[in-house]
Amino acid sequence: MNGNYYQLFIVTTNEEAIRSIYLTFSGHPYTITITRSGMELLSFISYQLPHVIIVGTDITDINAFELVSIIKKNSITRYVPCIVFGSHNELNDRISAIDSGADGYLTLPLKHEELQALVHAKLIQHDELYLLSVTDDLTGLFTRKEFFRRFSFEIENKIHERFSIAIIDIDHFKNINDTYGHPTGDIVLIQLADILKSLQSNNHTPARFGGEEFAILFPGLSSHEAKKIIDTIRLQFASISFKTNIPDKSFSVSFSSGVAEYPTMGSNCSELLSRADQALYSSKTDGRNRTYIFSPIMARNDKFWEYIKTNKTAKNIFIDPFLHEPTTRFHYLPVVLENLLSSEISIDTIGILMIKALPLIDFYQYRGYKNFEYDIENLALLIPKICELHFPYERHITIADLYDYEIAILFPFPSSLKTNIVEFNKLCKELALDISLQIIHQQIEIQYANGIVPFHKNFAKNILHKIKAIRSHYAPLLSISNEKNIINDFSKAIDTKTATSDYIFFLPVYHHTTFKKSYYHVFSKQMVSANNYFDLMLKHGISSANDYLLFFNSLKDVILKQSLKVPLIINWTPRLDLKTQVDILQSLIATSAIPSLILAIDEIEMEEFLPQYEQYSSFLDKTTIEFAVSNCYIGSQLLQYLSTIELSMIILSDHIIRNIHYFKDRIKIINGLRLFCDQINVPIYAPNILKEDEYKIIKDITITYMSGPYVEQQFTLFSLNQKVV
Ligand code: GH3
Ligand code: MG
Ligand code: MG
Repeated sequence: MNGNYYQLFIVTTNEEAIRSIYLTFSGHPYTITITRSGMELLSFISYQLPHVIIVGTDITDINAFELVSIIKKNSITRYVPCIVFGSHNELNDRISAIDSGADGYLTLPLKHEELQALVHAKLIQHDELYLLSVTDDLTGLFTRKEFFRRFSFEIENKIHERFSIAIIDIDHFKNINDTYGHPTGDIVLIQLADILKSLQSNNHTPARFGGEEFAILFPGLSSHEAKKIIDTIRLQFASISFKTNIPDKSFSVSFSSGVAEYPTMGSNCSELLSRADQALYSSKTDGRNRTYIFSPIMARNDKFWEYIKTNKTAKNIFIDPFLHEPTTRFHYLPVVLENLLSSEISIDTIGILMIKALPLIDFYQYRGYKNFEYDIENLALLIPKICELHFPYERHITIADLYDYEIAILFPFPSSLKTNIVEFNKLCKELALDISLQIIHQQIEIQYANGIVPFHKNFAKNILHKIKAIRSHYAPLLSISNEKNIINDFSKAIDTKTATSDYIFFLPVYHHTTFKKSYYHVFSKQMVSANNYFDLMLKHGISSANDYLLFFNSLKDVILKQSLKVPLIINWTPRLDLKTQVDILQSLIATSAIPSLILAIDEIEMEEFLPQYEQYSSFLDKTTIEFAVSNCYIGSQLLQYLSTIELSMIILSDHIIRNIHYFKDRIKIINGLRLFCDQINVPIYAPNILKEDEYKIIKDITITYMSGPYVEQQFTLFSLNQKVV
């Protein structure tokens, strides 16, 4: 029930009655929906329950009393009050109304006061009934059933991008009952419930979940924010001194709690509840009177822990199918280990390669949090593929998730195979390098760590400790290069390149907060041959005109040495004056055989860019440099830019395509892109098309593209003269 307004559904063809109802209930707190058809009313209320239904006997598509009796027989709609009105004060009609289960009968013309009094009384009755049906007798909190209703409503309707749930369980409650009696136990429950009720004013939903268990829904809050609130309540509750019937004897009570967050820790009700429950379990076993946020190490599989405790060979192992990380879909480590423990093959050692993904900076701000998840999803798809290529015993490879974007690749070495540590280390480095090259267009950096752990079934817990030790040795894979190294790498990369008609695309350097240094993606031959273009992150790495000049002079050397004839796309560097950049780039074109150069401006930097563009417009007219907008959304903003500045290309950067990933009707949006392309006569460059079918749509409009990692074929990039048809 929504306390803010009452929804009245009216079904009648009587204009006079409609007018009276409007006059009586105009404005807050009522909203009125009118239909002339009884059947339409039935279809309305199948997805939205009104607070009161008012039916005129004048409707023709169904008998009004029959309509009421259908409503009153349906288990969902039966509690909605139905008021019938008719034109005659006929006894028969009144009897039919009572028979059908109607909650009142009014005679036309409708009298303002009578109508209002009746509806009002029914609403109060309805509210009371409703509250009774959803609250718990003892505590007055919502019932478990109501909690579930709100919980699933939150998930199904995607009301908040994230929210948290907490489960609270009173510590040693049985002792209280046993020592001081059941009624005292009840007082404790009521006291806690009263504290929890204070949360309701902040739109949080506390509920009595079971005997001495409570659950709270925290819409919009992260698990950390929820934990903070729970901890405040926990201290408040623990400080209460409960009186007993023994003079001068009082006692205090504590509770334990577990918190889980949507969607990072679970994507549906059962998953989230099980996570919160696992966290609660951990807080109980760690000594009670505390709040834990779920973490995968808590993702207990009871059989596994049982196994650790008893050292018995577990047969018919049960693997919880939900026990996997929601983004990568890999099982959590305990599940994987359990699987190995129950394996038929005798295993001596396990080689472990840990991959940790770190978002590059600007990420949150530029691309939104969810994109990182998407990169992780890609990474998770990629890892098994790459492992299969490198590891000859792929049958035995198994991958686990350690949460917080750490993935453990486990290579169980059967006793029959000799473990060669040097070989294994080499393999890990190769694997990690391969993975990192494949994700070079994603704004993540990976670190890796590896090691070999003995695998004795009798020391299962030891395995976890060993894995923990490996985790403390993470190292970045590609060392941080300075500009000179980049140029060298670039030069080497170009050496392997045969086609010269492709674009060289420069992307921004992302400044990594953790390392406090500019980070560059380094080329490799492999990458160049695989993708036909270069990806150099430049933008924020260069902070002065001198750096810029130095960089492009070295680049010019490479271009001249290689006699390269490639068009360039370079990102505008906002830290540098536009004229300086264009001057330097212009001289690069003049002294090399570069056919064309496009300066790409990030859409969010457009406002910053335009005044400079206007200031130097007479100067820019004389250059051959063209302008493009990158990282742009397809919308009116973009069309506005097209009217301000002559853009030669639109670059839909990775994040556009990736954002689309989160919409259910992705194809629809890609089709929208196609319509947009048809309207404007500017080429669009859409990097990272991920799916074959999407590629086909894009291909139809001869939009330019780069393939993403999962489009197997390689496509040629377009040449500058090509326009959208
Ligand atoms: P732990 O710290 O492990 O949670 O210990 P505990 O004693 O609280 O654990 P347990 O779940 O076994 O005990 C719950 C007890 O709560 C058992 C039941 O008798 C009591 N209980 C359940 N509902 C009510 C109630 O409405 N009133 C009272 N007084 N007791 C209740
Ligand atoms: Mg309990
Ligand atoms: Mg308890």
